[in-house]
Amino acid sequence: MVVGAGVAGLSAARILRDSGISVQILESKDRIGGRAYTDRDTFSVPFDHGCAWMSGGPYNPLVQFADDNGFECIARFYPVLEDKTFIGNVGSGWVTDEEASERDCYLEDSYQAIAAAGRERHDIPITDIIDTKSAWAHHLNNYLAAVQGGYSDQISALDFANSQASGDELHLFDGYGTLIERFGEGLPVQLSAAVTSIDWSGEGVKISSSKGIISCKVAIITMSTGVLAANRIRFDPGLPENTRAAIAALPMGRLAKVAIQFDRQVYGSFTDDGFNYYDSPGTSLNVITGYADSTMAVAYVGGTPADELEALGKEGAATFLLDRLETAFGSKLRQYVVATDCTGWGSDPDVCGSYSIALPGHAGAREALAEPVANRLFFAGEATSKHHYGFAHGALLEGRAAAEKVIALLA
Ligand SMILES: Cc1cc2nc3c(=O)[nH]c(=O)nc-3n(C[C@H](O)[C@H](O)[C@H](O)COP(=O)(O)OP(=O)(O)OC[C@H]3O[C@@H](n4cnc5c(N)ncnc54)[C@H](O)[C@@H]3O)c2cc1C
Repeated sequence: MVVGAGVAGLSAARILRDSGISVQILESKDRIGGRAYTDRDTFSVPFDHGCAWMSGGPYNPLVQFADDNGFECIARFYPVLEDKTFIGNVGSGWVTDEEASERDCYLEDSYQAIAAAGRERHDIPITDIIDTKSAWAHHLNNYLAAVQGGYSDQISALDFANSQASGDELHLFDGYGTLIERFGEGLPVQLSAAVTSIDWSGEGVKISSSKGIISCKVAIITMSTGVLAANRIRFDPGLPENTRAAIAALPMGRLAKVAIQFDRQVYGSFTDDGFNYYDSPGTSLNVITGYADSTMAVAYVGGTPADELEALGKEGAATFLLDRLETAFGSKLRQYVVATDCTGWGSDPDVCGSYSIALPGHAGAREALAEPVANRLFFAGEATSKHHYGFAHGALLEGRAAAEKVIALLA
């Protein structure tokens, strides 16, 4: 049995099925994909609520899968910290070239310090190795919130340095979620089957879900660490101490996206694909201004402000973004709005956040969670990936690795 039909679960099930092993997936939602989900109805172009950028590195099998299945994708700009920046609130305005180069030096020094900590295997908070007194420190923090879902004091420098994503970021016009849906086509999935308990007290495993009880030899468990930590699933007997400690050491970060479609291009002479907006101090947004070549703006908000944004509701979140777009572009844009939306991963009980953060001192937790329990329970997902956590392809590779362990065991 595979619990969860996200990328990791689908990947595991494909490998097992292709090896001739009988496999079934239990999924709590009424759809497959988990954090890979494309909304194809609200806007004129597909909008990915979760993963949107396909890492183009050679380690990502989904690049070939997309190509084989006729998915169009192109290398695209994602607004990162080094790009054009608008400071809101106090002293509103665009960051000057001089300020930008000062900021870029600070960032470069910080990245170097994190890389050095990684080489020296210092499993310490990022805060301990960067200049936190710099005027640009909160920009780095906001950047970490956007890409990691947490802040410099919550993130292990070693874990951050372990991340090996490289290569172009590819945008899929039909949506990353749509690609994952195709990836899962034909697999034996029981939808709307929320697992409530996993009994591994006997020889095999007994899994109880809203659809009944199923017995199996082994289970691959792919729910997020947020779901596991929320104790929605009862394990009988309880999980070993090192597995529980690993789950606790990998809490979920926060990331929300708010999207607005206009009936025309509204950014005047601004020709870049995106920019950063900082309330000073406060929330930061990474805004894509021409999402998928459309008239849509998509803003990413990371860290605790993501929860605050979700709590505003879809309308409130759209107003939050509109206020800032109007401040930056100095014109009345809301009259041109045709559709808006905001994601809700933090309050989604099947996910409970965006992706896992390794707390300082716990970079080893990812491998610890992937350790099989009694050769019967195999945990897999983005959280168990040492080098590609927080990515869809990381989840895929981890699902595959767990399936290969099971195949070796059953051979
Ligand atoms: C906002 C956001 C932006 C992202 N952007 C990118 C990006 O641009 N590029 C990238 O590569 N990655 C990105 N990611 C990360 C990527 O989406 C994830 O790493 C990946 O999808 C995780 O897959 P998974 O299989 O590990 O977990 P999940 O997708 O969480 O799958 C677990 C499955 O288990 C199910 N489940 C939960 N509880 C139960 C239960 N009790 N019983 C049965 N089933 C259950 C869930 O419904 C879910 O389907 C993003 C994620 C978010 C949230």
